[in-house]
Amino acid sequence: MKTITLLTDPQLISALDAAQVVACDIDHTLIDFDRGQEAATREIAKAISAPFAKEMNAIFLLLLAGYRGTKQTPSNNKTYQAILQRIYDLQDDTPYGKKMWSREAMAIVAAQNINIAITPAQVEQTRDVYWGAIGDFSPLYPDAKKFIEEVKKRTITLFFTSGSDAILSVRSHLTLHYDPTFSESYKQKRLVGLPHARKVFIADPEGKINPAFYDRVEKTIFTITHDKLRVLFVGDSYTGDIQEPEKRGYKTYLIKRE
Ligand SMILES: [Mg+2]
Repeated sequence: MKTITLLTDPQLISALDAAQVVACDIDHTLIDFDRGQEAATREIAKAISAPFAKEMNAIFLLLLAGYRGTKQTPSNNKTYQAILQRIYDLQDDTPYGKKMWSREAMAIVAAQNINIAITPAQVEQTRDVYWGAIGDFSPLYPDAKKFIEEVKKRTITLFFTSGSDAILSVRSHLTLHYDPTFSESYKQKRLVGLPHARKVFIADPEGKINPAFYDRVEKTIFTITHDKLRVLFVGDSYTGDIQEPEKRGYKTYLIKRE
């Protein structure tokens, strides 16, 4: 694994010369998801209310911090664990496990926290406003634009690899249900503004840290090459983007944003 701070890092660009395949993460690697998150919060404030939007944003940021295990919010943080449990408790049982990143669940917990009633239709409205804003207002980082141009100058097959957005359907009494086909097709829609890649792999249903996801990606890579040193994996999450490809012998680049 090599660690870089920009996708225009000379090490990465020169590695492209020998590459046949690039498999690149999207959120926080190519697009500035934080900008999208801010925009989504603004749009939800307009659609529902400012206190609700603020609370939902706070829940998202707490989950992100706990998931990443920051100093302030280690993954055993009690508030983080309690919110996570409430998010899981809203979901019915499926073979795919509970989904922590469900914005539907975050919306319901936010409404409970600030003591307002919310209907299933409002939860879905919040979800649609949220992901609409993420799609519209998460720009490509400038270095990502240049990186993709460099990839396209060469005869490289470009894939995007992206986690599940954990889109859940909202049922009466505010219970949530995960259907992988619905979740994946919903996410495909928010990615239409991205530059073209040969294929976009979305980690519904298995989740990105699951080796099964990389089995699926690898199967397609093997139709192009078996030379793993000519395949580059790029992403901002060690556990989600790097760990498994590195274990399998691919070249990996961890980008540290900020
Ligand atoms: Mg990412």
